[in-house]
This record gives sequence, C-alpha cells and structure tokens, in this order.
Amino acid sequence: MLIPSHIPTQKIENPLLLEKGIHLFVKRLDLVHPLVSGNKFYKLKHNLIKAKEEGHSQILTFGGAYSNHIYAAAVAAKEMGLKAIGIIRGEETLPLNPTLAFAKEKGMLLHYLNRSTYRSKNTTEVLEGLAAQFGHFYLIPEGGTNALAIQGCGEILSLDDAQFDFVSLSIGTGGTFTGIASSLAANQQLLGFSSLKGNFIHQEILDLLQQHVNSPPSNYQILDQYHFGGYGKHNKILVDFIKDFYLQTGIPLDPIYTGKMMFGLFDLINKGFFERGTKILAIHTGGLQGNIGFNQQHGTDLDLS
Ligand SMILES: *Cc1c(COP(=O)(O)O)cnc(C)c1O
Repeated sequence: MLIPSHIPTQKIENPLLLEKGIHLFVKRLDLVHPLVSGNKFYKLKHNLIKAKEEGHSQILTFGGAYSNHIYAAAVAAKEMGLKAIGIIRGEETLPLNPTLAFAKEKGMLLHYLNRSTYRSKNTTEVLEGLAAQFGHFYLIPEGGTNALAIQGCGEILSLDDAQFDFVSLSIGTGGTFTGIASSLAANQQLLGFSSLKGNFIHQEILDLLQQHVNSPPSNYQILDQYHFGGYGKHNKILVDFIKDFYLQTGIPLDPIYTGKMMFGLFDLINKGFFERGTKILAIHTGGLQGNIGFNQQHGTDLDLS
C-alpha cells in the first residue's frame, strides 16, 4: 500500500510562537494521499496485509456517512486488490454525499443499517447476518482500531522525531494515540486532544495502552476540553481559526480532528503551558476529504490542499 517512506515535516512560523519561544513543526500525514486521512492508511496497512495472507477476497467495515475511515478503506482495499463492503450508519440519502460517492466510485459496496441495528453491529447476530448476505469477509472495526491498526500507527514516528519534546495529535477512538505512545522515546511527552465530549476517553486510553503496549507509558496527557461541543460539532471561532491557520501556513486543517487539536495546542502555547525552547511535533492526521461535505452542509469555504 502506498505509504511514502519519507513524510515531510513543516516548521510553523507565527508571531505567537516567536513570542513564546516555541518551535512547532507539523508532520504532514495528510500528504500521504491527497484526500485520504493519513493515519487511516497506517491503521489499515497490517489489517489488509493479513486479510490477503489469510486468503480473504473482501473486507467489511463500518462507519458514519462522512467517515474518513470508510473513505480510506475504499481506497486502500482497492489498491490491495480486495473488495470492500462499507456498512453505513443510518438510511441511504440520495444523491450520495461526497464521501460515500467517492467510496462507491472506488468500488466499495455500500450497505445501510438503521441506527439501532448499527449499535448492535458487533454482536454475532448482526455479523452472521452480514456474512449470510455478503459471504465471508475480513472484519475491520468502526474507526479501524484494533491490534494491527495500533501496530501500524507505531510506524508513524521516525527516528528523527526523537528530537521533539512533545508530540501532539487528535484523538477519536484513540488507536492512533496508542500506536504513537508505543513508539515514543522515554524523554518525550504525548499530548492527545479528544475530538469527543466527555472524560470517558481517559479510561479508554488507559485500557488501550494496557491491552496493546508492553510496558504502558505514563508520559502522556489527554486534553478533553477542546471538543467544541462534541464530535462533529463546531463554531465560528473554530472555523475562523482553521482559515487563519491556512492563510499563515498554507496547511489545511479539518474541523473534526486536526483543527480542534491545533486550536487546543495554540491555546496551551498562549497560556504558557510549554517552557521556552520547547520543540513540539504536531501530527497532521489528515481528514481533509471531510471538508468537501462539511462545506456543502455548513456553507463554509474550508480549504482542502
Ligand atoms: C480517524 C481520525 C483521527 C482519530 O484517529 P483514532 O485512531 O480513531 O483516534 C484523527 N484525525 C483524523 C483526521 C482522522 O481521520
């Protein structure tokens, strides 16, 4: 699968960073593919290799109608010569939104489950029903988080990245965070910005770390106050921040994940959270495909590249 061996890292220049003496760099996983969320390729990589090795001809996975994961799974499965079935939450709406239209164009078979059945998607009853309908498949969970996904995300940081004092990223299910935590140097701190509302995420990350990392690290912090009202929620402050950031840096952000992370990071910098001279690596996890649908839904003009 197409993950380039070198991912560009870009230095951010900005008056606030200068004033506070902070060195901020962005690792551009969004450039792994023009529109596929960079982290999703890492999460899918070992799953798709295993599916092939086990002789599967198709994968099946789950997601919402604007899901970055569904979008990435459609592209990655096609590249690997696997058929893909996308089980989408809710009713079909026509015309298809840009995310689903793209997935379908890449050959993904879309199947809809009403919200209550979707909630039971991990029960044997629902899974057996899907197998009866579509035949055998390699199952990838919603959001793509499992042990192989976490292994793949352990490959995001390169040796060079050990120079940074802090690594910062957005958290959805926490799979990417857990993979990065597993590959962090002992002198580094990991900062995760939750894109979901609620403090459940602290326990969730603890569980993931205990389950998937040999000696669970404690050099991390989760910020849970930058969700802007919850998953997928936004306001004008966030949208304006994303637009300003683009004007200053040429780096597009998405309003679901990376925009909230960067907003939170700048808020911390502004509040003096970091010592002068601190080197921070912010991971751009991608998600820009979602900006097309977001702009259509909300009448915004967020940039894509
Ligand atoms: C899915 C996604 C995340 C969250 O990844 P998790 O592994 O679920 O925490 C972050 N950023 C973007 C752009 C994503 O698409």
